[in-house]
Amino acid sequence: MADALIEVSNLRFSYRNGEEILRGLSFSIHKGELVALTGPSGSGKSTLFYLLGCLLDKYQGEISINGRGTHQLSAFEKSFLRNQEIGFVFQQFYLLPRASVLENILLPAYYPNENSKPSKPDRQRALEIIDRLGLSEFLDRTPQELSGGQQQRVAIARALLKNPAIILADEPTGNLDSKSSESVMKTLLELHSQGHTVVIITHSPEISNQCQRVLKIRDGQLESDIQQTAKSKVHSSLQIPAMLAHPKGWGLGALLHSIPNAWQNILRSKTRSALTMLGVCLGVGAVLTTMSLGSFAKKKILAGYEILGVNSLQFSGYRNWRSSGDFHATATFQNFEWDRDIFPLFRIFPDIEMATPLLYTWRPTLSFGGRSFSDNTMGIGIANDFFAITGVKTSRGRLLSVFDLDTSAPVCVIGNTVLNEVFFPNDPIGKSLSVGQDGGSSMPCRVVGILEKQPASSADSNTDPNRVVLLPFTYFSKVATNSWEREIRDILLKIKSGVDPSEMGARLEGYFQNRYGDTGTFQAGTAAKLISQMKLFLNIFSGLLAAVALIALVVGGVGINNMMLANLSERLKELGLRKALGATPRHLRYLMLSESLLLCLSAGIIGLVGGFIAYEGLILGATKLIPDLEFEWVFQPLAFGLSFIAIIVTGVLSGLIPAMKAEKLDVMEAMRQEA
Ligand code: ADP
Repeated sequence: MADALIEVSNLRFSYRNGEEILRGLSFSIHKGELVALTGPSGSGKSTLFYLLGCLLDKYQGEISINGRGTHQLSAFEKSFLRNQEIGFVFQQFYLLPRASVLENILLPAYYPNENSKPSKPDRQRALEIIDRLGLSEFLDRTPQELSGGQQQRVAIARALLKNPAIILADEPTGNLDSKSSESVMKTLLELHSQGHTVVIITHSPEISNQCQRVLKIRDGQLESDIQQTAKSKVHSSLQIPAMLAHPKGWGLGALLHSIPNAWQNILRSKTRSALTMLGVCLGVGAVLTTMSLGSFAKKKILAGYEILGVNSLQFSGYRNWRSSGDFHATATFQNFEWDRDIFPLFRIFPDIEMATPLLYTWRPTLSFGGRSFSDNTMGIGIANDFFAITGVKTSRGRLLSVFDLDTSAPVCVIGNTVLNEVFFPNDPIGKSLSVGQDGGSSMPCRVVGILEKQPASSADSNTDPNRVVLLPFTYFSKVATNSWEREIRDILLKIKSGVDPSEMGARLEGYFQNRYGDTGTFQAGTAAKLISQMKLFLNIFSGLLAAVALIALVVGGVGINNMMLANLSERLKELGLRKALGATPRHLRYLMLSESLLLCLSAGIIGLVGGFIAYEGLILGATKLIPDLEFEWVFQPLAFGLSFIAIIVTGVLSGLIPAMKAEKLDVMEAMRQEA
């Protein structure tokens, strides 16, 4: 018939267990009809209700609503149909318990468009309906504060928000006393008289008697179709809205759209959300703290060795007296020569940035103007790179220059203790210091600079950098009387940062060994090995700490996942309801996803702030215990960045399973869950 609004023909349906519930059902319902659907319990009425509402699929036969076969509709079109053309009323009302009457009624306004929100006209219409159904005084109440009949009228008001052509009601008075039943039925009759097509599933003869037509179902088949009163004249002005365009793309709009909703849900169960967030807070805080403190500690520990320079390498070569004479070698090794052995290294090993020979004279007697000092003193012949490699600076005067080196100038820079013991209170700059050697001769030098006072070396207790006299090695090797002291056996190198000193040492050993065979013994300083081992240890240690922290974060994420799943089963009804009111599968997926993302993000931000406070607190505490340690603001962008990525990953991963479950929600099963 031309005006058939709902057309069912030869409808067959079975649940997954294979039992056929509807067995060849055919009927049609016309615009403006008021139809009761009756039949014994278990006959398939509710199944039919959910099929008509496009909340169940995989049926055989035909169902068409307003001329459109529901088989052919996409998920979005079904959502659109539910939202715009059908108003659902359930036996159990299904109101959002913590939302107000007005909020409940406005719920369909959020769908099916992926970013719609209640508009002004929506609110206007909600208020009109509320007024019409006599609910004005309950506007701000929550459902718990209403009687059953009032709650059902709120549910009817919600069904009316989009002015749908069809009202589908599943035992709308089944949970009500007779007085409330009456008022709800009165409302439904009014809707019918306004032109809505109303289909009511009911057991009650009192209800079915008030309907124009009664369809009786038994064992999944139509038992009878009784026209009780004449069909009313259809004076419906209800327009069937035009189908919206399908939303395209990734639905980022839908994700953003779901955020306020997700936020409300989080706030509705504050304690539980807070407890869940705690796990992520601690996890993120722990990741940040361990990573930041790990690198801080590494820096501080290595700083103790900075006197040798973390990126410096001491290298020595000695004549091997037991050499049998290596015929493969190109030369016999006596000692290093600057031009022959050291200078070419820059070209051969691009990782080497600077180099200085180290020539030593041990415990020289330093004297000036009748005062002398020889306690643990040391004279060192160096190239001017020495200062850049070791980082030592002068407190007064100047450093040795390239010119001093080139001209073998008799100049020197003295340590702080030398200043005090030999010169103080006289100004040593420009004075001639005598550096006495074994055998009585001396290396006189003019003092050009005084070194800054240095902490006594922690790495090498034999040398006190405050008791040294630094001379150009060119001058030193010229005037040293002891031939052993004149020759270069030790070199100090600066290598590019990031290059492992121990590995560089091995490469140098290989190079010289290759060149001189066993006529020389070559060796990288033990400090290089120590430092690289220490670095390795510290890296492993902070890596382990971060791994433990990550595990904590994973545990936190599992907590969120768990809560979301528990939450999901508690909220099946709510999600089912949203779906019935026009939420698309994507809405539901994003609702869950944005809830877990929001939970993780808020927990993560608290965790980051907490972690920052915690590690700064720990550093402050450590400065009280370790007097040499100074308080520092540590900000490790890498640690923050990784923690942030971890937050997002946790959020998405922990929301994924609940989101997929929500998307595939079977509304009928969801609605039938026991509360
Ligand atoms: P009515 O609403 O008339 O009481 P229903 O449509 O609720 O009938 O149920 C019809 C039959 O379908 C019953 O035998 C019921 O046990 C069965 N049934 C309902 N839901 C499911 C389901 N999800 N899976 C399997 N069987 C179901």
